[in-house]
Amino acid sequence: MLTAIVGINWGDEGKGRMVDLLSQQYDVVIRYQGGNNAGHTVVNDKGKFILNLLPSGILREGTVNVMGPGMVIDLEHLCGEVERLRQGGITVTPENLKISDKATICMPYHKLMDCLEEDRLAGKKFGSTRRGIGPVYGDKYMKKTLRMGDLRNLAGLKERISDIVEWKNLTVEKGYGHEPIQAEEMMAWLEQFGTPWLDYICDTTLYLTKAADEGKNIMFEAQLGALRDIDFGIFPYTSSSSTIAAYAPIGSGIPAKKLDNTIGIMKAYSSCVGEGPFTCEYFGEDAKKLRDAGGEYGAATGRPRRVGPFDVVASKYGVMMQGADTIALTKIDVMAYMEKVPVVVAYDIDGEITTDFPVGERLNRAKPVIEYMEGFGDLSGCRKKEELPKAALDYIQYLEKAVGCPIQYVSVGAERDAYIKMF
Ligand code: GDP
Ligand code: MG
Repeated sequence: MLTAIVGINWGDEGKGRMVDLLSQQYDVVIRYQGGNNAGHTVVNDKGKFILNLLPSGILREGTVNVMGPGMVIDLEHLCGEVERLRQGGITVTPENLKISDKATICMPYHKLMDCLEEDRLAGKKFGSTRRGIGPVYGDKYMKKTLRMGDLRNLAGLKERISDIVEWKNLTVEKGYGHEPIQAEEMMAWLEQFGTPWLDYICDTTLYLTKAADEGKNIMFEAQLGALRDIDFGIFPYTSSSSTIAAYAPIGSGIPAKKLDNTIGIMKAYSSCVGEGPFTCEYFGEDAKKLRDAGGEYGAATGRPRRVGPFDVVASKYGVMMQGADTIALTKIDVMAYMEKVPVVVAYDIDGEITTDFPVGERLNRAKPVIEYMEGFGDLSGCRKKEELPKAALDYIQYLEKAVGCPIQYVSVGAERDAYIKMF
């Protein structure tokens, strides 16, 4: 069984939390895109963990975790993240973590370039996480990056690194006027933070093909959501990778295998990090109340997230792009304080009412059409469908119909067992 767990919205829907719950029946969990710009928070019997690079399956004993070729890996961050996990009692060995030899290395100068450019943009910034993700993916497509497999022969890399550094300095030094990058420093960095992973690096294609052929259960854990996909998201306010389920087999290294099912993680209200159109956005007191109730501060960056009511138009598009078979609805417990529950049911674009998500310039002119449903109070103690009040069932059924996908799980808390299986 090959299952993708993906975000329907702008990210931070609770993918890590759902992977932690559902990975019980899976042998392998893979991260197939992105880097340490993700923050997946998992609360379970071992404590609270924030994962940036590692698949959330690392927290379960017996699960093998794979970092696929579609990822970009900051080696220094990886060292720190694994160290933190070990301090929290989690075992990380080559047995339960496999890193693709084709995954791209995110270098210190990628982070530097990210910062230099965000600073240059000042008031017009994109809201980058400043972790080097955009620059490193750019370099990958320029074919100027190093891959994890290159760490096996560092000595042989000297000339290539010095060529790359010379090329980088055309921008860093001559363009931005920053002091130049030093090739020796890059070599030392690679040695210090790359060497610990030598035993973890392998051909994940071979490993995963064999696992799939043996009938193992494989889970693909996405980072971010459909609306941040580089091609289908709100460009250019997207991430630099493909966040959609269709990319999961490619980014994992097994492009010829087909997904058996896709579970879309959808938040019961909306949140978004960074700049760009966010039609359902709340401001002022309404925003503060929802943000505080949901603890909407970035796991990777600590930035306050933008928040708003559930957005039918954006979520219906997200469900379509992900090809979701079922949905896990998360954080509905956060809405306990609402007397009436607001829903963005359509967009008004130049007087035309639509539920088709406009990608591109029309989105800037979209205004939310809001309707209200009955409040449902505190759901955090509910564990069965029968325990849900009618108003909550009405809301859930309304969302299913509006986005055109059945809701199989309803999460009512961050802890592993705080959920309801609807069918
Ligand atoms: P991800 O990036 O999609 O994995 O999501 P994040 O971890 O960035 O953000 C989700 C946050 O909500 C985390 O702090 C989770 O612990 C928390 N969370 C997940 N599901 C629920 C839920 O159903 N209710 C509440 N109250 N919190 C949740
Ligand atoms: Mg997150």
